[in-house]
Amino acid sequence: MIESKLKLKVTDILKKYKSDSYQLLSILIEIQNHFRHIPPVCIPWIADELDVTPLHIEGTLSFYHFLSTEHRGKITIYMNNSITSEMFGGNEVLKTFENELGISVSQTTPDGLFGLYTTSCIGMSDQEPAALINNLVFTHLSPERVKKIIAGIKKGLSLNSIQESIYISETKSATHCENNEILKNKIKEKTLPPPPLSNISNSIHKKGPVLFADYHLGATLHELLKYDSTEVIEIISKSGLRGRGGAGFPTGTKWGYAHSTASDERYVICNADEGEPGTFKDRALLTERAELIFEGMIVAGYAIESKKGILYLRGEYTYLKEFLQSKLKSMREQNLLGRRILNSRFSFDIQIKMGAGAYICGEESALIESAEGKRGEPRNRPPFPVTSGYKNRPTVVNNPETLACAAKIILHGAEWFKKLGTPQSSGVKLLSIAGDCERPGIYEVEWGLSIKEILQLCGAQDTMIIQVGGPSGICLSLQQADQTLCYSDVPTGGAITIFNSKRNLLELLKNNLNFFVHESCGFCVPCRAGNTLLYNQLQKIKMGHGTVKDLEDLRHLSSIVKSTSRCGLGQSSTNTLVSSLNNFPSQFEKIIERKSTTQC
Ligand code: SF4
Repeated sequence: MIESKLKLKVTDILKKYKSDSYQLLSILIEIQNHFRHIPPVCIPWIADELDVTPLHIEGTLSFYHFLSTEHRGKITIYMNNSITSEMFGGNEVLKTFENELGISVSQTTPDGLFGLYTTSCIGMSDQEPAALINNLVFTHLSPERVKKIIAGIKKGLSLNSIQESIYISETKSATHCENNEILKNKIKEKTLPPPPLSNISNSIHKKGPVLFADYHLGATLHELLKYDSTEVIEIISKSGLRGRGGAGFPTGTKWGYAHSTASDERYVICNADEGEPGTFKDRALLTERAELIFEGMIVAGYAIESKKGILYLRGEYTYLKEFLQSKLKSMREQNLLGRRILNSRFSFDIQIKMGAGAYICGEESALIESAEGKRGEPRNRPPFPVTSGYKNRPTVVNNPETLACAAKIILHGAEWFKKLGTPQSSGVKLLSIAGDCERPGIYEVEWGLSIKEILQLCGAQDTMIIQVGGPSGICLSLQQADQTLCYSDVPTGGAITIFNSKRNLLELLKNNLNFFVHESCGFCVPCRAGNTLLYNQLQKIKMGHGTVKDLEDLRHLSSIVKSTSRCGLGQSSTNTLVSSLNNFPSQFEKIIERKSTTQC
């Protein structure tokens, strides 16, 4: 491309973002989407305009998976390589992409038309194998579908029309996959949303009394304005609501800290960056209950006396951005958002900021760094975000599910919410269930349900491993299925992946460690090097070269990584490995024994 044309476009993009360095990530995403890469020649121009160093720009763009200085193809394919993709034929699908395109992973075709890459979970674990193609989702992929997609693109068809021909036409003729009963019903009921959402079945198998119960837009806000900010915090505290992202911090306490910190500005951030492989509950909530989440953000804003909210949306959910923006626009038009909400004296607005593919940005301080346009590296604490977060102002970061619960609590009261669940874990929990079961999808359940009941709900049979909480969670066996989901027994952010007796535990653990190897931000050695060492050791054992000493070493190294890593990623990366060593010793011993027998 001629340099002057390139400069013109980059200047336009910089102008759009008012040359604000806090918008660097948005600027880079827009350049990437337009040119399919970030031409290195632009880096000094951007640096000059934003008054930062070129090194800062390079450091930022190299941090994010979806940004690159090398051309990623006019059509960029990101094939999911998480464990559920592998379980349901992802490797074969990837091979077909390679064969059809004549390239290997991480390459572009010589004509620059296609780029093929792998990526970790794209929030489709209930519909794997799946891939993102220029930010659109293609689910339930098979070698045949891959051939159809590539042929369609080569013929010049648009991705939307290819999606339609695969997902809508096939469903209409009832040849679509069995898992998509819900989509079929939507077509029958004529409630099918327009592309790009139409090929995604949210598979909500169980609606509960809070999140997927009846919803009337604005009802919460009318109720909210009857209270003052302190009363709202009191109601949320009394309800017992705790953060739904996994850590379980009491929401009312968090809001109280932010509220009591003196500042000229405060911020509310909705952390819609669910990146834990196996998690897809926020995807369902964002598509089915977007306004409820926004009302929850308004409630949080009112409580901490903030005027500004940010929805930080993971890059993998880019296809939802326009849809969410249309919901925000409609709320503004109805005076439910923006200046003087419902003619009160309270003003609050929400903007959407995009991520660009980095799991660590789900950690709240890393997310704040990313929302500020920088590398998403976790901050040292203290100070905590509630006193010094976005732009060093008090900031509450909450998960979409937490915020949606808060909105319903304001509407129905603290006591109503407290009656649900268990005394220490009030309310409901959204579960995203995937893997070997008849009904993968979304379940809204009260806290306190046992693992056994969950297996029955989703139709799991011949179960060997229940991974609760994704790769950073724990692996339980059927002997532990009487344990219950709640903060005091088995806490969880909601991802449950089920593996039957035909699956290989070591494959699962390798996939988990590989995920952390790729997602480690590299800041500290135990996480950066330790996870790689563990992966290699596991590979050695899987290949039949392990000894009893190797198992001891796995435990020892895991405890070092856990205790010396700087943030939650490294501190939890060995959880599934250690819980598997404890709960499935025979799975390891049989490989070691086989080796001893062979040696004899
Ligand atoms: Fe980065 Fe260290 Fe956190 Fe790993 S533990 S993600 S290297 S800060």
